[in-house]
Amino acid sequence: MWHARQMTVKSTDPWQTPAVEVLRAHPGIRVAEIETNATPGFTGDKATGERLIEERGAVLSRLQEMLFANGRWGDRRSILLILQGMDTAGKGGMVRNVIGHVDPQGVDHTSFGVPTPEEKRHHYLWRINKALPRAGQLGVFDRSHYEDVLVVRVRNLVPESVWSTRYDEINQFERELVDSGTTLIKVAMFVSLDEQKRRLAERLERPDKHWKYNPGDVSERKLWPAYQEAYQAMLDRTSTEHAPWYVVPCDRKWYSRIAVMELLIDAFERLDLDWPSVEFDVELEKRRLAEA
Ligand code: AMP
Ligand code: MG
Repeated sequence: MWHARQMTVKSTDPWQTPAVEVLRAHPGIRVAEIETNATPGFTGDKATGERLIEERGAVLSRLQEMLFANGRWGDRRSILLILQGMDTAGKGGMVRNVIGHVDPQGVDHTSFGVPTPEEKRHHYLWRINKALPRAGQLGVFDRSHYEDVLVVRVRNLVPESVWSTRYDEINQFERELVDSGTTLIKVAMFVSLDEQKRRLAERLERPDKHWKYNPGDVSERKLWPAYQEAYQAMLDRTSTEHAPWYVVPCDRKWYSRIAVMELLIDAFERLDLDWPSVEFDVELEKRRLAEA
């Protein structure tokens, strides 16, 4: 698909290949072979990335305001960013550093933890449905319905006969979502086992990070191969034309953030937004105001 970004790629653009192209999960991708410390498509260094995130953050903010404005004037569309990744992949930091650039009133953020007793009484998509972004909103999911084919699969929380039907069900669910006007940006965040260890160690070193540490996360490390398998199945079975996965290496936080920033900007640009045309007569209102 052709869009505005290609028009603006200059030789000085540190993106050699746009993030949407280089990060899109292609058929045959192997989770075990993802280079988690790579910076696909990006030729700049950390300083370039950190400078760029401010610049692009301003662009994102403008686009998000436009979506919000259109939502106020009847446009039904919305965008939903789904962040999936193992503990320490940097989901929270992604929200602060990328989504942090936009006006909070246009953001609908939800994080999904272990289902509450009430959630457990319902179908796994029940809590997801409740959290979907309304018209004009940028929804952000920190974890999602994909937990129901990841942790649930790895930990045998339901029998295989149950979780194995969920891939098709999720594809169908997302199809309906897209048809109703929600653009999905599904981001699979990958860190290496070593990098995770460093990040968990840091959580233990720093009293201001103790709250993030969960002793259970260490036990999950033993299940790493099983998680890799579950992530592999997720990419194989739920990266669809209407809702593709993007695979983002996350050992370098600065890279993962600038990459997701670009994925978001691309999604907004594809909406081809403009400021909404209002239903009142602007010239008439100017005259009325002058006389008021
Ligand atoms: P955190 O994101 O660090 O707050 O951790 C949330 C925890 O909730 C993770 O360990 C997830 O695996 C877990 N979790 C999220 N969704 C589900 C689910 N549907 N079933 C079981 N555990 C889940
Ligand atoms: Mg955690």
